[in-house]
Amino acid sequence: MGPQRADLLKKELNIFTFRDLLELFPYRHVDKTRVNLIRDLMPGMDYVQVAVKILRFSLLGEGRAKRLVAQVADSTGTMELAWFQGISWIQKNLVEGQSYLVYGRLGFFNQMPQIVHPETEPWTPEKKEGREFLEPVYPATEKLKTRNLGGRQLAKLTHALLAQIHEKDVQENLPDSILSKLQLMSRYQAFRQIHFPSSNVQYSAAVRRLKLEELFLAQLRMNLLRSKRHRFSKGVVFDKVGEQFNTFYKKYLPFDLTGAQKRVLREIRNDSGSGKQMNRLLQGDVGSGKTIVALLTMLLAVDNGYQACLMAPTEILAKQHFATISSLLKEMPVNVELLTGSTKTSARKKLAKSLAEGNLEILIGTHAVIEEAVQFQRLGMVIIDEQHRFGVAQRARLWEKAEIPPHILVMTATPIPRTLAMTAYGDLDYSVIDELPPGRQPITTVHRFETQRSFVMNFLQAEIDKGRQAYIIFPLIEESDKLDYENLYRGYETVKTYFPEPKYWISMVHGRQPADQKEQNMQRFVTGDTQIMVSTTVIEVGVNVPNASVMVIESSEKFGLSQLHQLRGRVGRGAEKSYCVLLTGSKLGNDARERIKIMTSTSNGFEIAEKDLELRGPGDIEGTRQSGMLSFKLANIVEDRPLIEEAKAAVAELLENDPDLVSAENLRLKSFLQQQKGKMAWSKIS
Ligand code: ADP
Ligand code: MG
Repeated sequence: MGPQRADLLKKELNIFTFRDLLELFPYRHVDKTRVNLIRDLMPGMDYVQVAVKILRFSLLGEGRAKRLVAQVADSTGTMELAWFQGISWIQKNLVEGQSYLVYGRLGFFNQMPQIVHPETEPWTPEKKEGREFLEPVYPATEKLKTRNLGGRQLAKLTHALLAQIHEKDVQENLPDSILSKLQLMSRYQAFRQIHFPSSNVQYSAAVRRLKLEELFLAQLRMNLLRSKRHRFSKGVVFDKVGEQFNTFYKKYLPFDLTGAQKRVLREIRNDSGSGKQMNRLLQGDVGSGKTIVALLTMLLAVDNGYQACLMAPTEILAKQHFATISSLLKEMPVNVELLTGSTKTSARKKLAKSLAEGNLEILIGTHAVIEEAVQFQRLGMVIIDEQHRFGVAQRARLWEKAEIPPHILVMTATPIPRTLAMTAYGDLDYSVIDELPPGRQPITTVHRFETQRSFVMNFLQAEIDKGRQAYIIFPLIEESDKLDYENLYRGYETVKTYFPEPKYWISMVHGRQPADQKEQNMQRFVTGDTQIMVSTTVIEVGVNVPNASVMVIESSEKFGLSQLHQLRGRVGRGAEKSYCVLLTGSKLGNDARERIKIMTSTSNGFEIAEKDLELRGPGDIEGTRQSGMLSFKLANIVEDRPLIEEAKAAVAELLENDPDLVSAENLRLKSFLQQQKGKMAWSKIS
């Protein structure tokens, strides 16, 4: 093709090479291989093709209803074709008395079969059948269409390309053992059949082959990365469980650990004692008790002569961690300090000094801790809480703070379905706390309309009069959105009319407040001086006030599932029965209704994550967005889970027999991976 059209393909569809063109897959096929008889046309047939003669044209209607209608017939009956646009072009190009092959969506008008704006092409009765093959439909852009490079032309190009290439041009990359085990067609055949299938069966086989290839290769790459890290990366060695850990465990641990917490600690101990750098993702639902695991892990570092650091995504959360941890450690000879953006310069200096000299063992903070000025003497363990708020680049800066990279534990309370986690974070090791501490009462969640607000407020009052506290959350989609703040302030005023001072006191917290004001309001709620916390989602993650037993979420239709789940997780943390009230307007979209339904029917974060995945697709799942790992060309991480399992099992078996891919049979796989290197930024993850 000429340079101009080639340029257009590059710009519009990123097609630079033959291979790119081959990998532009059709998103559906149209079946024009069959010709229907008019007599057989029935409602519900969708797209049909008929071979007909045009009997006569008539111009009907006025204005917007103006249309050209053609009476057409085959040997079995008559029907109508209709055009609302391009009428004069049709009148010029279609001729009464001539025969045409006509394709389009079947409708019925006054019980007469009809196709509006059909595709037509001249037809002679000798051509008994339609096309020889299913016609691929490609995603073309408007621009391409206007330059004569629409779906049809793309199909022609691909067809021409496939006519010129041979088996040797599309070499097999999977080993024979995999091909026969998974019963896959060859790569060459798959490319042919996915574009121009000889049957539906062949088409499905081609799609399966290419999806499995995609999933298999992704899984394989990540397994190789992980085992490389296990074998070659150097990590500081925590080879003993020492005095601080043991003393704390025996004397100051306020409760028995759950089985899941113990298991995770064992996994961390094994990792950090292995001489390799630990790179572990810890998932645990809200309230599952990750903080204590973090603390014990940091004590492990201290016992081995290293410093540890815990990073939280917000100042509120960092302060809260600091308060919790320093009070748990108050009888212990372990130094803990807090560093955030609002730490005063003088305090900062002192802190930096003791950090550099090694007197300060545990540092808790916001991303202030990754600033250049902060230098550790012997940093051995970094824990990142609620990781989805931390960028990859920020995490990478931590590596530079010690000669041997510190162990990394990433904790997240936004559960990701397990299959997804393994696919997205395949090169991280993975632990999960899948058990809540004993004695938790399930949170009762209800949906109420805004018109029922006064009932809700009465309920709130009853709870508060029993000595409990409540949150009322307002949506804040954009930090900068003025309207949202107006809503918040108006909401605050409304709440005040229900709960007047001095009988009741209300805290208000939002992102625009100065840090000290935020802190003061938060603190008053924590200590119980205020009974109600009116807030935006700044309190979404981590905040722990066990006496709070009611969570009211205003305009909850505006929140996503994982956010709702996080917010709900702020209550149900104490001994009292807790409630979550989802307030909405009276008009709800389907998705919002579905989200509310899910929230009122389960409080299991993993279950919610699964539903979220089904509702929104993987691209939007918190924490996976930046990974880029979940965007496959063909495979769909939700619908193709059985294939993911198949691919995973095949990779495991392959690597068990030949971990370095050195056998003759696996050579083509190895060289394919090497060719592909650099095409994808897998290293982005860790
Ligand atoms: P999250 O995993 O959401 O960070 P936290 O670590 O804040 O959860 O723990 C939630 C609450 O559960 C805290 O009040 C904590 O003291 C308590 N907790 C944690 N582990 C246990 C346990 N094994 N038994 C009883 N209570 C626990
Ligand atoms: Mg937490």
